[in-house]
Amino acid sequence: MICKTCLSDSEHRHHVFIEMMFGTKERFEYQECSDCGTIQRLSDVADESRLYPDGYYSFSKPSRNSRVTAVRDAHALGTKSILGAVASFVRYDPIVAVIGCFGINPSSRVLDVGCGSGKLLYRMSAAGFKNLTGVDPYIVEPAAGAVTIQKSDLQSMSGEFDFIMFNHSLEHVPEPDQSLSNARRLLAPGGRILVRIPTSSSHAWREYGPNWVQLDAPRHVVIPSRKGMSALAERCGLRVRQSIDDSTAFQFWGSEMYRNSKPLASSRPDDVFSRREMREFAKRAATLNIEQQGDQVAFLLNAA
Ligand SMILES: [Zn+2]
Repeated sequence: MICKTCLSDSEHRHHVFIEMMFGTKERFEYQECSDCGTIQRLSDVADESRLYPDGYYSFSKPSRNSRVTAVRDAHALGTKSILGAVASFVRYDPIVAVIGCFGINPSSRVLDVGCGSGKLLYRMSAAGFKNLTGVDPYIVEPAAGAVTIQKSDLQSMSGEFDFIMFNHSLEHVPEPDQSLSNARRLLAPGGRILVRIPTSSSHAWREYGPNWVQLDAPRHVVIPSRKGMSALAERCGLRVRQSIDDSTAFQFWGSEMYRNSKPLASSRPDDVFSRREMREFAKRAATLNIEQQGDQVAFLLNAA
């Protein structure tokens, strides 16, 4: 099959990956592009929505955030304070820290694509952001208020946004070029798109192969290489301006569980690994991020 990022139609490498999050062990065929290294699913899944049962993590209800969390998030997202600096140091959160690197402000019109129950948007609201919209085709309850959440696909959206985020959602769609082109259509002049996504250009893919936790077969449909992501952006009238590796200890503890045939949903990492092992995983992730070999990246795109 033609590579969905770089469009190469060479002979690609073939793989079979099994479902391991819930441990159903169903088998799915994938290919790895011989030109750019992007991994994509070949098997058809008749009803994609069945892959996201009610207990799927992104649908869990947003919890009430403490005042300290709100001040910490506000600090990371640009509203600096001493308390926020202390809270960021003590309880560092990689998601808001990465978003904060890309210069948005409380009046930015923000769209979160594949927002689930809207957890991140509610946190941004508590941190002072005023214009927050989420869209997700699989959510149960739309919302209106401080945060607007629409049960819809991106294609049906209208409006104009300064900052459009794909937080680990683009790898779930069968046609990522359609999603990015739609995001481009909704982008205000000078606006930016953030794509946080796993990448096959990583130590974890090379080290763990079919047990790499972020393959997440069959939910992850297209896992781009770094080169593939640039090619995909270009085809959608966009350009990768900056990238920050934001991989975590998850690449190690999750992949080690799969290597030992333990489904992710079966046990908590703290019950499987010692605190010393978990600290070591986090340290190795930080090193890989500096070397740009982490297994997930935050790509910042703008109009070409
Ligand atoms: Zn390719």
